[in-house]
Amino acid sequence: MLVEWIIGKWYLSVTCKACGVQFAFTPDDQPDETHYLTDSAEMVLTCPECYFPLTYNGHEIRKVQAKK
Ligand SMILES: [Zn+2]
Repeated sequence: MLVEWIIGKWYLSVTCKACGVQFAFTPDDQPDETHYLTDSAEMVLTCPECYFPLTYNGHEIRKVQAKK
């Protein structure tokens, strides 16, 4: 994880296109807003497992809630 994983909180995450690991990259403090999730959004994220930087689009970003 790139961010601290707190049970019950929401995060934005992607699945690494190189190794398949899902990782959260930022807390989502406003779960009702979807501005991160537009298809035009694009960001480069580095996987914490394989350290492979790849570009991710909005439709590849998933909201996840931290669970045990
Ligand atoms: Zn990876």
